[in-house]
Amino acid sequence: MTGAFGTVSGDPCPCAGPGERHQFATHCGPLLRGEALPGTPEATMRSRYTAYALGDRDHLVRTWHPRTRPGELDLDPALRWVGLTVTRAEGDQVAFEAHWMSGEGRTLQRGVLTETSRFERRGGRWLYVGATD
Ligand SMILES: [Zn+2]
Repeated sequence: MTGAFGTVSGDPCPCAGPGERHQFATHCGPLLRGEALPGTPEATMRSRYTAYALGDRDHLVRTWHPRTRPGELDLDPALRWVGLTVTRAEGDQVAFEAHWMSGEGRTLQRGVLTETSRFERRGGRWLYVGATD
């Protein structure tokens, strides 16, 4: 379902957590295509998770504050992002757990990235600044 740009309309959005049912076509899809702007820190965070899941480097660059954006953005192709839970969204901060897998069979590994991200409003958009912890 989440191969590079392999998501088709009707698929659940990669950012949909347990019990959430929003679809890629109407949720993060328009944000990744630049047809809509994320209006909240949580929307930016979710769209960035989806961009990681789909390997959409352009969207990650576009939603990263220029002050903290890395010059080179390397995505690890072996890492598969397989689940997101937003645990708190308050003010300019969003806390989340992002589940990943890499390898397969006997080399299969799983992990969870836990982060509280901070966002800053700039030109009508919420941009990712960095982790607070
Ligand atoms: Zn989404």
